[in-house]
Amino acid sequence: MIGQHASNHRIVEAYVDGQLPRPARWVIATHLLFCAGCKHHAAVIRAIKRSLRSRVS
Ligand SMILES: [Zn+2]
Repeated sequence: MIGQHASNHRIVEAYVDGQLPRPARWVIATHLLFCAGCKHHAAVIRAIKRSLRSRVS
C-alpha cells in the first residue's frame, strides 16, 4: 500500500476514527509516514472531527 494511495482516503478516515483492525492500522500508520498527501488528509479529518465534537458539546 505504500506509495499508492489514490483509493486510500476512506481507509485513512476509518483509521482516524479508530475503526480499523490492528493489522490495517499498522499498514496505514506506516503509509502515513511516507505519504504527505494522506498525512495531510488525516490531519484535516482530525481537525474536522475535533470541531464537530466541540460544536456538539
Ligand atoms: Zn497516501
